[in-house]
Amino acid sequence: MVYTKQREKMIARLREKGISDELVLKAMNTVPRHKFVAMGVEFQAYDEKALPIGFEQTISHPYTVALMSQSLNVQKNEKILEIGTGSGYQAAVLLEMGAQVFTIERIPALAKKAEAVLRELKYHFAVRAGDGTLGWQNYAPYDSIIITAGAPVSPQSLMNQLKNGGKLLIPVGDRNQQILTMFIKQDNEFKKIEIEKLSFVPLIGQDGW
Ligand code: SAM
Repeated sequence: MVYTKQREKMIARLREKGISDELVLKAMNTVPRHKFVAMGVEFQAYDEKALPIGFEQTISHPYTVALMSQSLNVQKNEKILEIGTGSGYQAAVLLEMGAQVFTIERIPALAKKAEAVLRELKYHFAVRAGDGTLGWQNYAPYDSIIITAGAPVSPQSLMNQLKNGGKLLIPVGDRNQQILTMFIKQDNEFKKIEIEKLSFVPLIGQDGW
């Protein structure tokens, strides 16, 4: 199965929900989302659902991935750090949009599985298992940092690893609900923009829960 029709329906639904960045829509119409979900639920991969990926974690709703990707206003070749690799799907969408992606996952088995799928799809990226709340200093500074798990506050190490003018996108709130928030770094000050209420699994780590 190639799921072409299901993918097109997903794109039409995303447009209806207000996603208008053609680069995002093109990337999501290209990346085979069914490869990133657990065996047996591939047929639901293009529905507007978060699906289990094991270890009590989920691949985010298509709308969430689209909204986060659109909010970053991705430019070709820019350096993006993702915290919470999960299935690898969000990373694949950013790679398809032309970004250089560095991604960290707390659960080693998920990092390994995501790496295998992304390699099979011939993407070039860097992934490691570890506590993403501390960032990845070796490749810093980043144009953008995207955190795909809910945090009580935005981790200071991540704020430090942003370029001047860089954007950090993070769901901030309690364990059940968060507000997707963008911080834009300007000369070591941060402009804060609240985007939308969403619900993510918790960011667990030194500077998380
Ligand atoms: N971006 C993912 C995708 O496209 O499938 C969805 C990620 S899922 C909603 C959140 C992920 O964040 C989980 O896989 C979880 O293990 C991971 N996570 C939680 N705390 C973390 C931390 N401190 N560092 C790295 N990953 C973390």
